Amino acid sequence: MQERVLTGVGVGRGIVVGDVRRMPDPLPEPAQVNSTLGPDAELARATSALGETAQDLRERGAIAGGLAQEVLDALAMMADDQMLVSDVKNRIDRGATAERAVFDAFAGFAAILTMAGGYMAERAGDLGDVANRVIAKIMGVPAPGVPQSDVPFILVARDLAPADTALLNFDIVRALITTDGGPTSHTAILAREKGLPAIVGAKSAEVLVDGDLVLVDAAAGEIILHPSAVRIEAGLAEAEARKAARDSATGPGRLADGHEVQLLANVGSAKSAAAAVEAQAEGVGLFRTEFLFLDSDTAPSIAEQAEQYEAVFAQFPGKKVVVRVLDAGADKPLSFLTDAGEENPALGRRGIRALFAHEEILRDQLTAIAQAASKTQAHVWVMAPMIANAEETKKFVALCTELGISVSGAMIEIPSAALLADHILAEAAFVSIGTNDLTQYTVAADRLLGTVADLQDAWNPAVLKLIREVGRAGVATSKPVGVCGEAAADPQLAVVLIGLGVTSLSMSPVALGDVRAELGRYTLAEAQALAEKVLTARNAVEARAIVAGR
Ligand code: PEP
Ligand code: MG
Repeated sequence: MQERVLTGVGVGRGIVVGDVRRMPDPLPEPAQVNSTLGPDAELARATSALGETAQDLRERGAIAGGLAQEVLDALAMMADDQMLVSDVKNRIDRGATAERAVFDAFAGFAAILTMAGGYMAERAGDLGDVANRVIAKIMGVPAPGVPQSDVPFILVARDLAPADTALLNFDIVRALITTDGGPTSHTAILAREKGLPAIVGAKSAEVLVDGDLVLVDAAAGEIILHPSAVRIEAGLAEAEARKAARDSATGPGRLADGHEVQLLANVGSAKSAAAAVEAQAEGVGLFRTEFLFLDSDTAPSIAEQAEQYEAVFAQFPGKKVVVRVLDAGADKPLSFLTDAGEENPALGRRGIRALFAHEEILRDQLTAIAQAASKTQAHVWVMAPMIANAEETKKFVALCTELGISVSGAMIEIPSAALLADHILAEAAFVSIGTNDLTQYTVAADRLLGTVADLQDAWNPAVLKLIREVGRAGVATSKPVGVCGEAAADPQLAVVLIGLGVTSLSMSPVALGDVRAELGRYTLAEAQALAEKVLTARNAVEARAIVAGR
């Protein structure tokens, strides 16, 4: 069979050969027709499907264990919920079919959760997933979700729901291809974190069917359908060569000419900090502190916070740990801090804006960080998310100084902040660019929305031009400019970022080896020349092609 090349956005550097298994497409909405079976028969169909779904989820949870079990048990409880079951019964009594009654009852429940805001609202999406499993059982069609298999395969899906990703068995799923979703989608972030080769946003992968043999080259963003024996051999040899390059690149980050580039890790808890140490991170470039706050109705006390921070700081004696103060709002709502009534929360009172509006929470957090820092040997820096201008920076830095933190800075996530980076750096000790948000605000495309995923690409020269402004401001003031968004974990983009004046890169620990190896292939002058060239591209695709064809 003729080879065919399909393309998308690659995540990671792996090369994998295997057979395709497709995830079933989502079910269509059940028709709104009156039942012809009668209420008793419909109720029997609904209740047995609800019960079987709950049992199924629990059984799969027990097999998976750990975090996946928690996720699946929570989903099983939704299918068992008595209020929901009686709502389904009432709808059936009024003439609905079992599938329609389940669909409407779950939708009503999801709407209530959404209105409650915060953590409850986040669970609303999971309800849709459970409803689909129940409806599939009623209809006798395959359940949506990752296919069950004992032999390894390459998973092809439109995109993955959180309940699917929690369940992925990485011994069986060797690579991931999605037709929707972009490089900052939940799925791409998970793949990067787990070191799973993936190609996202590959529209042409719609043609793939179960059993197709494919070669996935994540670094090239290519899927070769029906690869020849020669191609497979060359691909596997290249995979070995990449692995050898990664394994031999050790120690601190540096370019081919010895120019130093600090390679840091993104962490979110004491446990992930241990993974960072293992991967030879030179410190932490982004300590996300949301985990402490997300499941509670009130902010944790200073003592509780200090204990958790100390557990992270203690793992990096003599090294830098950059703590980000609480970044609530938009994709991370918090009932006691953010306003659930905002129509457009990504443009609302989020990040530092929410903290300035509740200054006591910010003061407590800074106090806890300072206390924890004083008990360890880590060099603790603190930064604020969603800074828009120099005035906000000045206010934040003054608060940090007052509460005993001597090195404080700003995240650059808003285009206005990138363009005013020189003024921001006049106030701050350093800046760190959050390319996930910077990209979403530059192209005006919600980072969580699959329908606009093709726009959410940090290779977009518009994003890179903003980063160049920040790099220039860093050079002019001789202050550090980091990148801590997903872009830093893309080895080729990392080279471009260094060429634009970035001085450190922070990423999920699993990406450190590949980035370290790629940086070692370029001198600073080469990285700068490459960055200049990339800035002339018309779009992200052209920008990638310039680096690939170097
Ligand atoms: C970013 O926006 O790039 C970033 C690092 O922050 P988060 O992804 O947590 O919003
Ligand atoms: Mg951000």
